[in-house]
Amino acid sequence: MSTAVKPTGYLLKLIAREQVAEGTMAFRFEKPDRFSFKAGQFIEVTEPGPAETDAEGNARAFSIASAPHEETLMVATRMRSTAFKRVLGSMPIGTQVRVEGPFGNLVLHNNASRPAVLLAGGIGITPFRSMVLRAAQERLPHRIFLFYSNRRPEDAAFLEELRSLEQQNPNYTFIPTLTAMEKPQPGWQGETGRINKQMLSKYVGDLTGPIYYIAGPPGMVSGLHAMLNEAGIDDDDIHTEEFAGY
Ligand SMILES: Cc1cc2nc3c(=O)[nH]c(=O)nc-3n(C[C@H](O)[C@H](O)[C@H](O)COP(=O)(O)OP(=O)(O)OC[C@H]3O[C@@H](n4cnc5c(N)ncnc54)[C@H](O)[C@@H]3O)c2cc1C
Repeated sequence: MSTAVKPTGYLLKLIAREQVAEGTMAFRFEKPDRFSFKAGQFIEVTEPGPAETDAEGNARAFSIASAPHEETLMVATRMRSTAFKRVLGSMPIGTQVRVEGPFGNLVLHNNASRPAVLLAGGIGITPFRSMVLRAAQERLPHRIFLFYSNRRPEDAAFLEELRSLEQQNPNYTFIPTLTAMEKPQPGWQGETGRINKQMLSKYVGDLTGPIYYIAGPPGMVSGLHAMLNEAGIDDDDIHTEEFAGY
């Protein structure tokens, strides 16, 4: 018999909104004491009675970008000109949205003897921000590699925060990469070009040891998944979250 607990809905107030990269905003909502989630999970956000909607309706799924120990519930998104995002981007602080969840199982494995390789494409960084902040906070023993691919530095949300976390967690390595730059730019601390087998091997070594997690736009997720399969990684060791809609 299933013992799954039915997810509950909450009406949560928007308490802050800030730009975290070019065309990218983070939204912080109040977090009720009874709301608990695992780093990597997502919520569904519904705008109650919005001034406008479109074919996709008034709800969207968002990974929770904040870590479980943080006081607020944060999501982050690319601010494209869709009805949902126009409403989200302009709603007054204090407005309530309906939040359902948490959902999903893109959560860090328990067996700390296997490294975790996190592969983020653009705004696909959101579940991984939560995971790596949690790992640092709880001093998890897992070896963690976070590869973070963006076109340009200004597209990369949370870049400096994710980099500085290396000082707090000796088991964590951050590898940002830029895909719209052929050559490294002066001052850029990271890789250039798409994430590929050579780039992974350079940092991870034996590619068959870790468990892999991929999040981002569907095309990027399927491309990286295929690349890992070609490198001999079994599907059982690959977990993905496709951000449908991108
Ligand atoms: C589990 C899960 C977690 C997710 N987590 C996140 C997250 O953390 N952050 C996040 O931003 N998103 C996340 N998403 C995706 C999110 O739910 C939205 O689908 C996404 O943000 C796009 O919403 P939208 O309103 O911009 O476009 P939508 O209105 O949803 O787009 C509908 C369609 O129109 C197309 N479209 C819309 N605008 C444009 C445009 N400007 N150019 C070209 N095509 C366009 C899209 O390709 C899509 O086919 C997640 C999705 C899932 C399933």
